[in-house]
Amino acid sequence: MNAVAIELSIVFVDLFPKYLEERTLYISTKYQTASHLCPCGCQEEIVTPLSPDDWQMTYDGRTVSMQPSIGNWGLACRSHYWIRHNIVDWAEAWTDRQVLIARNISSPKKHSGISRVMSPYERSAPVQREMSRTMSLWSKIVSLFSMRG
Ligand SMILES: [Zn+2]
Repeated sequence: MNAVAIELSIVFVDLFPKYLEERTLYISTKYQTASHLCPCGCQEEIVTPLSPDDWQMTYDGRTVSMQPSIGNWGLACRSHYWIRHNIVDWAEAWTDRQVLIARNISSPKKHSGISRVMSPYERSAPVQREMSRTMSLWSKIVSLFSMRG
């Protein structure tokens, strides 16, 4: 496991770019979602919805921290880390048992203080689908405007 501390650049956007840059945390307050490439280098896109029941983001004017930790047990790398003041703070990789426990605990509206589990396939797919629909609608509106102008 990669144990080198990685500092993320913070970029506030309305819409996420099609291709994310490595070591960059994109934050859309408009869609209450953050997105970044898995810091292990596997290039998987991690989408973290921001809400009291998902992840909470703290922005101190310069750096961003996220609560709880991000456990990508659905990925081959199974990376698990905190984002604290822009720094990727590696936590232990998930074991199958931990995944099962966290999965059972992380029912909606229940705060346990234990890392929330996410799978890019199960959890974030609806969010992404919703966002890309919004994005294509928005790009249609934009192109309408630019045709007129
Ligand atoms: Zn990874």
